[in-house]
Amino acid sequence: MKVESLEGWGLGLKKPLIIAGPCSAETEEQLLETSQRIKNEGIEIIRAGIWKPRTRPNNFEGIGEEALRWIQHVKKQTGLKFAVEVATPKHVYEALKHNIDMLWVGARSTTNPFTVQEIAEALRGTDVPVMVKNPINPDLALWLGAIERISNVGISKIGAIHRGFSSFKQTKYRNMPMWQIPLELKRQLGNIPLICDPSHICGTRDFIFEVSQNAMDLDYDGLIIETHRDPENAWSDAAQQITPEVLGAMLKNIKFRQPTSKDKDFITILGELREQIDHVDRELFEIIAQRMEIVEKMGLYKKKNDVTVFQKDRWQQLSETRTKWATDLGLNPEFMWDLFKLIHDASIKRQEYIMNTPIETLDERNK
Ligand code: PEP
Ligand code: MN
Repeated sequence: MKVESLEGWGLGLKKPLIIAGPCSAETEEQLLETSQRIKNEGIEIIRAGIWKPRTRPNNFEGIGEEALRWIQHVKKQTGLKFAVEVATPKHVYEALKHNIDMLWVGARSTTNPFTVQEIAEALRGTDVPVMVKNPINPDLALWLGAIERISNVGISKIGAIHRGFSSFKQTKYRNMPMWQIPLELKRQLGNIPLICDPSHICGTRDFIFEVSQNAMDLDYDGLIIETHRDPENAWSDAAQQITPEVLGAMLKNIKFRQPTSKDKDFITILGELREQIDHVDRELFEIIAQRMEIVEKMGLYKKKNDVTVFQKDRWQQLSETRTKWATDLGLNPEFMWDLFKLIHDASIKRQEYIMNTPIETLDERNK
């Protein structure tokens, strides 16, 4: 799959790409004032929702086409560039007709391959940059699939926006970040520009800085942050928007670190530490292999004695001891328990295989 770096998008962009602007375009004055104040903070790309996908009906659903004309006026007055969300082929045609510089596919659309394919067909023959938000649910394949559909019609200026994943668990986030999913996407897609949307991850203004810094420390290529002239009175997503000035101050405080350093000492010391990690990981794997061998012996023994693979009391005992060990060792007990459950799950599967395989076949294998 051909993906351009940000520099290849032809808009004079470079890392870190910062996009700011209101959740929704509300009035021409709101759009102009917000954009001008964002420009004063040194930002050149404005986002604005024109067609708003709302979870429940009877909420503000966006201004629609009229707002595209406002954008054209604001572009003329300020020289800024604009990105909008498209969710149907008609949105694509309208946006391109009004000289919108960048498009993005929203989280709800990414969830639906039919919708993405229709949007992709509308994009065929153009070379507008398109950013694809992650689907609402934590499904990497769906996100990859949407990006592939856009790529397959010849778009190579493609970015991925990480806006977090919906979860039934109550957490401090509106959408859980699950950082490993976007990082895996980036690994698989050969460095597709990855942009973090801390606004939709947080759902409130309070820790937008923290999430943005985290993204930068993970070597993301940019941020898209909802910014409004009067956040409290925004017509959508009021709790998570910030003013242009707060955004400007926040960006000054973010540490933009380099993914590597040319310093000789740094390279030597990092190399040594990596060697240590390689050793420790190798030992960790050997220990797991040893554990699996014991698990197999236990499986055979249970089978010969007609005992079930799983025993409730033993499980209870494991849970108590393992979390205590984690705490004693200064490890996060929840993380260690999650990790242990994966190992335990694999062990159960191994023993189930033993239960369901004739003993002669197993003995043959063990010779
Ligand atoms: C938005 O960017 O305003 C939006 C609707 O986001 P998402 O698609 O991530 O929910
Ligand atoms: Mn929003």
